[in-house]
Amino acid sequence: MDLFEYQARDLFEKHGVPVLAGAVATTPDEAESAAASMGGKVVVKAQVKVGGRGKAGGVKLAVDAKDAREKAAAILGMDIKGHIVGKVMIAQAAPIEEEYYLAILLDRSNRTFLVMASVAGGMDIEQVARETPEKLAKVPVNSNDGISNEKALAIIKQAQFPSDIEGQVADVLSLLWKVFISEDATLVEVNPLVKTSDGRIIALDGKVTLDDNAEFRHPDHEALVDQGATDPLEAAAKEKGLNYVKLEGEVGIIGNGAGLVMSTLDVVAYAGEKFGHVKPANFLDIGGGASAQVMADGLSIILGDKDVKSVFVNVFGGITACDAVANGIVQALKILGDTATKPIVVRLDGNNVLEGRRILNEAAHPLIQQLDTMDGAAARAAELAAK
Ligand code: GDP
Ligand code: MN
Repeated sequence: MDLFEYQARDLFEKHGVPVLAGAVATTPDEAESAAASMGGKVVVKAQVKVGGRGKAGGVKLAVDAKDAREKAAAILGMDIKGHIVGKVMIAQAAPIEEEYYLAILLDRSNRTFLVMASVAGGMDIEQVARETPEKLAKVPVNSNDGISNEKALAIIKQAQFPSDIEGQVADVLSLLWKVFISEDATLVEVNPLVKTSDGRIIALDGKVTLDDNAEFRHPDHEALVDQGATDPLEAAAKEKGLNYVKLEGEVGIIGNGAGLVMSTLDVVAYAGEKFGHVKPANFLDIGGGASAQVMADGLSIILGDKDVKSVFVNVFGGITACDAVANGIVQALKILGDTATKPIVVRLDGNNVLEGRRILNEAAHPLIQQLDTMDGAAARAAELAAK
């Protein structure tokens, strides 16, 4: 999960990273009173989860509270790279003397953590990396060792920070490491980290990505979710513990195993070309132990998708045999009753397939059609969706 800047600022503050006062506002009124409480001279910053807000006109200096109100009115509702601004952060203005860059991230390709540090901050770091790579220090960090105070200082020296502030910047890096580890982040980036005219080092802009796989360790992270941006079907699926991703198509998909579901999406997209280009409507992996309740939950999410015209249940029996899955489907349709209204194409194969098919045949549910092959079933589901 990516955080908004104001959420990153709050996390920084919690762990002692030096930041300036900041408050969120969703109306010009709120912006004005927040600015007034900070002494009037503030920066009004669009809160969107995309970089380059400054260049896009989403970061504006205000001279007093009235001005902050006007700047907020101009920024709220603005479209920044397809993101509509719904909130602004009112931040205490800082007299900036220099702008630096600091980031800690998970470097997946090298299976390590990585610190990036540069005295050329404030601008697009990709551009620095491309045009003046010597100005960007990249230092791997072993997950067992972490970043000790000595290591932090060595990194800051390697990045050639001015010697009079290297101790201060190293302290900030140590604190950012604390944020990274204790919040289970995969990215903590500060751009710019600034030196003010009175010699303070402050994180002026923060970008944080939290590791969703670690959310069980952080009940407090739930409050950081941007409810407005979550697809309602995905939210409902998550509540039921389902592995569901909404896509833009008409054929609902249920399968067991991520790999099988991925290839089902491909096969349906391919088959759909012949039927008015219908496409898969979702990814849904119901996993190994596909109980009747899990099948019912999955079906109810998919049948609740108004774009779905047909459903393709593609199951390869393994540890959970096909007869158990078939019973699950029959039970699920009983649970759903009249709410199930769309045709469901089922393809069973693998462990105990004959018994599975027999159970479905015997149930003879009017919505269910059985096909023996994945290609055949995909074509039928696509055809039904096209009608
Ligand atoms: P981004 O463009 O989305 O990364 O937004 P930033 O928060 O990094 O702001 C962009 C630029 O605005 C910074 O690099 C600064 O030059 C400037 N800026 C941001 N906050 C302040 C501030 O408090 N005072 C001053 N003078 N400039 C600021
Ligand atoms: Mn920035």
